[in-house]
Amino acid sequence: MKRDTQVFDIIEKEKQRQVNGLELIASENFVSQQVMDAMGSVMTNKYAEGLPGKRYYGGCEFVDQTENLAIQRLKELFGAAWANVQPHSGAQANAAVMLAVLKPGDTIMGFDLSHGGHLTHGSPVNYSGKLYRPTFYGVEKESGRIDYDKLEANAKKEQPKLLICGASAYSRDWDYERLRSIADQVGALLLADISHPSGLIASKLLEDPMKHCHIVTSTTHKTLRGPRGGIIMMGQDFENPFGLTNPKGQIRPMSALLDSAVFPGTQGGPLEHVIAAKAVAFGEALQPEFRSYSAQVIKNAQAMAAEFVKRGYHLISGGTDNHSMLIDLRSKNLTGKEAENTLIQVDITVNKNMVPFDDKSPFVTSGMRLGTPAVSTRGMRESDMVKIVELIDESLKQKENPDALAEIKGEVNRFVSAFPLFAESVATS
Ligand SMILES: *Cc1c(COP(=O)(O)O)cnc(C)c1O
Repeated sequence: MKRDTQVFDIIEKEKQRQVNGLELIASENFVSQQVMDAMGSVMTNKYAEGLPGKRYYGGCEFVDQTENLAIQRLKELFGAAWANVQPHSGAQANAAVMLAVLKPGDTIMGFDLSHGGHLTHGSPVNYSGKLYRPTFYGVEKESGRIDYDKLEANAKKEQPKLLICGASAYSRDWDYERLRSIADQVGALLLADISHPSGLIASKLLEDPMKHCHIVTSTTHKTLRGPRGGIIMMGQDFENPFGLTNPKGQIRPMSALLDSAVFPGTQGGPLEHVIAAKAVAFGEALQPEFRSYSAQVIKNAQAMAAEFVKRGYHLISGGTDNHSMLIDLRSKNLTGKEAENTLIQVDITVNKNMVPFDDKSPFVTSGMRLGTPAVSTRGMRESDMVKIVELIDESLKQKENPDALAEIKGEVNRFVSAFPLFAESVATS
């Protein structure tokens, strides 16, 4: 068949966009060529409902091997006792956990969405806010940080069955030990959704949730630098502390409840090509180079944050412990939407984001969120972060001046050309 140039020409344009721009979206990264090779492999052709060794289809001997490798490597990476690598995404991983441990109408408690939480932690537009009763904790207005005493009082009042920690825009580390003690006091299970910082946690640069949380979910495509997908883990097989049952009313180990909540609970056939790519990415993350990469991600974020502060920007909580930062643009008389739209004109991608106690709508917002995983993969270092902040600051000052923006765009393209991307790959068209 003739090659579909209509599609591959568009893919080539997307590739050039990634190569020529500055990618500062905190949830994005660039995977290695071998991760892409696995994703684009013949594994996509195989149906494999069930788990390795227990499938509903024949011919699974090789996808069993890659899936077992993914599970083994993931357990080693996080020191987990149990893992399921089949969730199609982070949202699917959370859906499976909730299906396994909650009944419709049960109370859940998560990080406030308008403070940087995730839709799947109880948003009214998401299944989690429709099927369950969502309650929230947030950050303090002054400090931009969680006050765990207030969180505890809130949990005692609301009595959640599931306490969820983790967020999409919180630049500080989490006190998992304290959260577990709160969960124990109210009889809740504790879920850590480490979608954003999972690569930094795997590199042992942040607190370890695995020791304290009953269940841990994550995406695989953010700081972990794997293919798009989700995972569920347990640090110990926590033996079902509350006697939860399967649909037949039988008390089963938590691992069995979680496995069956993924399939057949919320998914059909697993994406075995993505699972093979997960195995590759987990193998990469086990190498010492990945830990140096993660350390650089944090150093870069801290250098970037310091430069923004120096230039008079208001960072929520004043800085960052991880790969991301959230900037309240109100002191610069800008909205998140204006910032995002201005920066895209100079080939810098960020996303507008609600800030805690925002007075604007989610479509406008008062903030922007930035992160350093992608630029760190390109090999940029602290001094480059200072340069990036200068380019951003200058663009925002010149937002009404198209000529100045065109000039900055040229500067951005020249700057990034010193950090080659996809050098090891073949052309896509
Ligand atoms: C990104 C993210 C998710 C969802 O991941 P998808 O793969 O986009 O479904 C879930 N939880 C948190 C905290 C996230 O940041």
